[in-house]
Amino acid sequence: MEQERRRLGVIAAASSYNTEEFTHNENLAHNAAAENAAPLLLCFGVHPQLPAVKKKEGNPFTETDLNDSVTLLQNIAEAGKIAAIGECGFDLYNSEFKETEKTQDALFAAHLEIAVKYGLPVVLHVRRAMHKIFAAEKELSKCKAVIFHSWSGTLEEARSLLRRGINAYFSFGNTIMLNHKQAIHCCSSLPIERLLTETDAPFQPRRSEKLSTWADLPLILMAAAELRSESGGKIEVGELERRIEENFRNAFAMDYN
Ligand SMILES: [Zn+2]
Repeated sequence: MEQERRRLGVIAAASSYNTEEFTHNENLAHNAAAENAAPLLLCFGVHPQLPAVKKKEGNPFTETDLNDSVTLLQNIAEAGKIAAIGECGFDLYNSEFKETEKTQDALFAAHLEIAVKYGLPVVLHVRRAMHKIFAAEKELSKCKAVIFHSWSGTLEEARSLLRRGINAYFSFGNTIMLNHKQAIHCCSSLPIERLLTETDAPFQPRRSEKLSTWADLPLILMAAAELRSESGGKIEVGELERRIEENFRNAFAMDYN
């Protein structure tokens, strides 16, 4: 069952500034293919938290790191090794993250440029930074698809992005079971063809758990089906699963069986 659900689509997102993590995920994807397991889609991006994390470790993210990571991204995109770019985006959650806003700006612009150049979807991490997203609306509307992972904006913001011609998808995880009012509202009311589900594994656990895993997906789907049914859009969980898989394939322009 779990193995079957993994067929919904799996993303290995390396978010680093060097090749190590990407190579690790490349190997995972390779092994999955060899074992005939669920396909892994490889993504690569420099996570917007990374500059602050490195700074805290006493090893600041330098101009050279920035250039190296952008070159790496450019090379693997050019070589057709990745299915999407991300997680990238903005994290302005607290002052520590805000201190690196300029670096985040530079990284985001470079990621978008490469995504547009190679026709790749982007997976976005956005915390307390919706203004940055609207400021980049022109570039985002040129992206093949824009996947907002763990969407935390309002319903109006989501609708507004769609109205601006951005091919946006909104992904929800355990937050819809954690009393996250905005996520719940959006998950129940957004157009069904714009919904995705995720685990954000392992860092978005259910209330009783320490970590999130694959096993959460059926529960998230069930919760999403219930939310939509409660708000008048009655849907069986199996049908929602089918629709979300279709969305996933559309968003990532995939054609696998
Ligand atoms: Zn994230």
